[in-house]
Amino acid sequence: MKLFSWNRSKFVDCPSCGITVGKDSLICRKCGMRFETRLDSGYVGEAIDHYKKGIREQKSGRHKEAITHYTAAIELLPIYTLAYNNRGVAYQESGEIENALLDYEHAIKLQRKLAVAYYNKGVAYKVLGKLQHALINFDVSIRFNSTLAVAYDHRGTVYQSLGKHLYATKDFNTARRLKADTS
Ligand SMILES: [Zn+2]
Repeated sequence: MKLFSWNRSKFVDCPSCGITVGKDSLICRKCGMRFETRLDSGYVGEAIDHYKKGIREQKSGRHKEAITHYTAAIELLPIYTLAYNNRGVAYQESGEIENALLDYEHAIKLQRKLAVAYYNKGVAYKVLGKLQHALINFDVSIRFNSTLAVAYDHRGTVYQSLGKHLYATKDFNTARRLKADTS
């Protein structure tokens, strides 16, 4: 007798846009990226392994180790958009904001509509005190993903700093509503 079990390992995040795709698919139905091999084999599989290890290290607060794994993933698969984005976050969390910005830029160059990279860029500019730059990036991230609650939250605080309290309140309310919808 054999129990049916849902095998999550048949799926993996598309290296380019992050949507869940079957490891045996040769093209991503969302971003249209064509994969040269199955996503669990060869150098692509190796890159994805490094990417996953990077996430694990990052979640445990080991940013340096995370950066090493993301870099290895990028070396194997130079179009690994999500690895650029995540490495940017790891750089940012280690205080290397300039390197973080370069990685977000690179991710955006590869995937023009990657809302999360614009969001991260906005946060980086906010930390640097460049509020107008932050605002533009939160705007774009919301344009590409109107359900990203954290982007509204951050844009709200920027509006607040700029004295635009009405806009701030509107963004905070939107963020609260989105969070309530998903909880
Ligand atoms: Zn994709």
